[in-house]
Amino acid sequence: MTAEPVATETGRDFIRDIIQADLDSKKHSRIVTRFPPEPNGYLHLGHAKSIALNFGVAQEFCGRCHLRFDDTNPTKEEQEYIDSIQADVRWLGYDWGSDLFYASDYFDRLYEWAETLIRNGHAYVDDQSQADIRAHRGTLTEPGQNSPFRDRTVEENLDLFRRMKAGEFPNGARVLRAKIDMASGNINLRDPVLYRILHAHHPRTGSKWSIYPSYDYAHGQSDAIEGITHSICTLEFEDHRPLYDWLLDKLPVPSKPHQYEFARLNLTYTLLSKRVLTMLVRDGHVAGWDDPRMPTIVGLKRRGVPPEAVREFVKRIGVAKANSVVDLGMLEFSIRECLNRIALRRMAVLRPLKVVITNYPEAQTEELEAVNHPDDPAAGTRRIAFSRELYIEQDDFMENPPKKFFRLSPGNEVRLRYAYFIKCTDVVKNAAGEVVELRCTYDPATKGGNAPDGRKVKATMHWLSAAHSKPAEIRIYNQLFLNAAPDAANFTGDLNPRSLEILSDARIEPAIATANSTEAMQFERQGYFVRDADSTPDRPVFNRTIGLRDTFAKEVGGKS
Ligand code: ATP
Ligand code: MG
Repeated sequence: MTAEPVATETGRDFIRDIIQADLDSKKHSRIVTRFPPEPNGYLHLGHAKSIALNFGVAQEFCGRCHLRFDDTNPTKEEQEYIDSIQADVRWLGYDWGSDLFYASDYFDRLYEWAETLIRNGHAYVDDQSQADIRAHRGTLTEPGQNSPFRDRTVEENLDLFRRMKAGEFPNGARVLRAKIDMASGNINLRDPVLYRILHAHHPRTGSKWSIYPSYDYAHGQSDAIEGITHSICTLEFEDHRPLYDWLLDKLPVPSKPHQYEFARLNLTYTLLSKRVLTMLVRDGHVAGWDDPRMPTIVGLKRRGVPPEAVREFVKRIGVAKANSVVDLGMLEFSIRECLNRIALRRMAVLRPLKVVITNYPEAQTEELEAVNHPDDPAAGTRRIAFSRELYIEQDDFMENPPKKFFRLSPGNEVRLRYAYFIKCTDVVKNAAGEVVELRCTYDPATKGGNAPDGRKVKATMHWLSAAHSKPAEIRIYNQLFLNAAPDAANFTGDLNPRSLEILSDARIEPAIATANSTEAMQFERQGYFVRDADSTPDRPVFNRTIGLRDTFAKEVGGKS
């Protein structure tokens, strides 16, 4: 990826400081980073942090950032994920140019290097089972035990390894292990597995291989082959760095990348783990990877979150070396701030209550002017129809209001935005005693929303003409988890039973019904909404991206 340098608004972080120093000291003339996803699921917000960091620094320092698929485990990886990951990185606004790679491109070279390790006495074939290997690995306080197969001759090891490759043995029969130190204080150095037998079809190499390299073996060598200068990963790999350095030292690699670790993103009310997200989809807790409640990139997109809001969020949280948990409110703040700036304003009534303006002529309709964005005159205006029968929001009316309720109630006057002052004269109820319709009068002198006599009203409400508005389904999404720190091991107990609420009788402006926009709009006083792909010509569906204010904390009594 090549790009013009862009000014960054982020304060410097330790990664950027290291890169600047490496460029200043001429250790590198140009930096190369990479984003190395395993194609075994869809990308989530945690990946967005890593993407923004790797592609971001490459952009800022005029370097390159590779997209490399770490496709070393064919039992879990699929083309669908490869495609979605590319689409998601692009949607976030980043571009790898011609630098698209796959660890599987290097399988031949990785194999050759494994033979090199064997020839130099640095690797051996172990016939122990997985369970035995684990059982003999030792603990943090106790050393491991050498495998009875550790001292095989080079010839025997080469022969067995080649036969593993040729597919002679069943899955799990043998592994290739590095010969390092079973007593090392670092468990990653206790003869880690480099190759395992796996008779599995690979999306790219087909049935060529019966053995596949471990992540730990493939990862660092792939970085070395690609000439990655700054191999940036999350903190849990800090203890793996000595192994990566050991391998780089033992092999004739073309470069020696340095690994730097940063803190992964953790978010309240959210689980950022492909394992959990896969289970949510598989067990039907959500409608799919792109369910708007998912913290996946496709979920955020379907929810109407603009990519710049994700980039802003990532910039705000910064890059640190210590793990922490970010408040979900930070993400929501970024989304609101971004949408407030760009979203066009519209009117929609989510839970309609009919209002009849008794002194408005029956056959009459007039067009009133409404602004599309209060801070952006260039966004222009539109015309909305006013007539005798209207809809207002059910909760904008109370028959017996408490003292501080300034919206519509019997005898009280309010402003209908862009239209007139109205006053409620009568309440119509059904047999069950529920309010089903209001009778109101309007003051023709208040057209446009101001009284010539200067009298004031305390509330301005949104509304729609009954005959001119269109029906819509509106989906209100709330947090998927009720617990600020959901239990990843047993998350079903923390699921929010009210994470999706469907409003099937909503009314919207006719212009919204026909617009095919994928961009979120503000429905005045309600929040931001985006058209969903489930829409049909007769029945548009809208997802709530986010409310105008943070009401979640109040609803669940949690801290958000
Ligand atoms: P998960 O933990 O969700 O299963 P993963 O680490 O297994 O994710 P990979 O495809 O291996 O997923 O990740 C690709 C890159 O994204 C890695 O460099 C990884 O460090 C980074 N990454 C994954 N999760 C996060 C996160 N929560 N915060 C920051 N970076 C992350
Ligand atoms: Mg991983």
